[in-house]
Amino acid sequence: MEDRAAMARKAAKNSIVTNILFYKEQFKESLYNRKFIEENMQTAITERQFMMYLQPKYSIAKNEIIGAEALVRWKHPERGMIFPDQFIPIIEENGFIRKVDYYIWEEACRFIKKCEELSITTCPISVNVSRMHLGDDECIKVLSDLIRNTGIPKKLLELEITETVDDQQVSMKAFQLKEEGYTLLMDDFGSGYSSLNILLETPFDVIKLDKKFMENMMLSGKGRMILEQVASMSEKLGLGLLAEGVETKEQVELLQSIGCDQVQGYYYAKPMPQEEFFELLKKQNSAV
Ligand code: C2E
Ligand code: CA
Ligand code: CA
Repeated sequence: MEDRAAMARKAAKNSIVTNILFYKEQFKESLYNRKFIEENMQTAITERQFMMYLQPKYSIAKNEIIGAEALVRWKHPERGMIFPDQFIPIIEENGFIRKVDYYIWEEACRFIKKCEELSITTCPISVNVSRMHLGDDECIKVLSDLIRNTGIPKKLLELEITETVDDQQVSMKAFQLKEEGYTLLMDDFGSGYSSLNILLETPFDVIKLDKKFMENMMLSGKGRMILEQVASMSEKLGLGLLAEGVETKEQVELLQSIGCDQVQGYYYAKPMPQEEFFELLKKQNSAV
């Protein structure tokens, strides 16, 4: 009996030590990662290591591409591909996200222009607008310069905005952008703070249903009813509805049955290099 108690004590002590070592290692690694990003982010811009990936959006009924979302990837020459969740939180803290967003917005405008020049009918491309832009007016000037310089129609560049703790701030910026004539998508609907409130106060055009929200809603009859009500509400409010993170046939069928036709997710296509998306568009063009 005594032996067993001693053994348990020893094991517990060992596991505490192992845990502490584990957290220490993790902490060291995340500090190292932060330092790496901070030291390399400027070079990444100048050496064009950031890449715009595009993820198609589909109409379920037509089974065709109706748009795409621009998503940043960092292709580092030694470290390889770095995904947004590894660097966006850090560059949002230090403000560098502004530069990265401007870079991707420009890539999106150039892509649209390239399609026009080659007479490929293109679809709208949506770009992410970090919450860091909400507090200043610079982004409005950057956007209008990009539109003017590339000469693309404004309606082809759509803006995705995520709700934040400060919905007043989101609302104010959204009104400004709306006045400028942009199409606004409310990103991650249902994942966060006060989705319904913000809908009331902000002139969004399209609701993007968050992946988690949709997943949870699919699990029960009650959830499906809520989803149905969201679809009917968006219709009554004259808002578009797009479901993201769609991964299964079941989800597609459910979405179709509640009247949500626009989808984005691995079931249809993963984010891809812009060249690949261009080929997809070309194929769709020639099929028409
Ligand atoms: P988000 O704007 O909600 O983008 C959707 C994320 O879901 C993307 O992750 C996309 O690759 C992923 N996704 C798409 N379909 C599926 C699916 O069927 N299943 C699953 N599990 N995931 C799916 P990604 O590209 O890693 O981007 C993560 C987040 O980083 C984005 O979430 C966005 O908040 C941010 N982000 C990405 N690019 C940019 C950018 O250029 N600017 C800003 N400000 N933020 C960006
Ligand atoms: Ca987004
Ligand atoms: Ca989203």
